[in-house]
Amino acid sequence: MNKIKEVKERADIIKVAEYFGLRLDRAYKCICPFHKEKTASLSFSQSKQIFHCFGCGVGGDCITLVSKLLNINAYESAKQINDIFGLGVDFEKRKTTWLEVNRYIQEQRAIERFYKWHNETLQMMCNYLHDLKGIKKLQQQDAVEYYIDLLIFGTEEDWLWFKKTEERWCKEIGRELKTRNTRRVSTL
Ligand SMILES: [Zn+2]
Repeated sequence: MNKIKEVKERADIIKVAEYFGLRLDRAYKCICPFHKEKTASLSFSQSKQIFHCFGCGVGGDCITLVSKLLNINAYESAKQINDIFGLGVDFEKRKTTWLEVNRYIQEQRAIERFYKWHNETLQMMCNYLHDLKGIKKLQQQDAVEYYIDLLIFGTEEDWLWFKKTEERWCKEIGRELKTRNTRRVSTL
């Protein structure tokens, strides 16, 4: 998870505001430090964990509040809040190892292969459906149509399931289409 988001979820905006010197009344309102005023128009919501000024329009969450008060960026702001309130979000930089980079690349390749497989299989099933004739058509049309549907409208989990369970059948279809095509070419 994003570290900044994690800090935001663990912190309490009311405590943050008070720590940084804003004097909230019972309704969680105070004089806005971002514009000149005499009546309090900066208001906080503890349930929503946000603030908003009805005078100058500034608003946001606890990260934005500290960023604006200290004039620092969101990352630094989150880090400060984390330190001050001991929220326990780990901001230590992790060293990325080559092993991890390698694993990531492998994963990306596997994902690419999977999508390539999906594309090719869908194309193949469509060709097969188009070519079905005679008794085979009667026997297989329903199944082929069902699987085409699944490959178009299913989830990736469905596709993975299909890949595992129908691997042999897909290979057979592939072979069949291949021999049919070579036959077609040789008769031309
Ligand atoms: Zn204001």
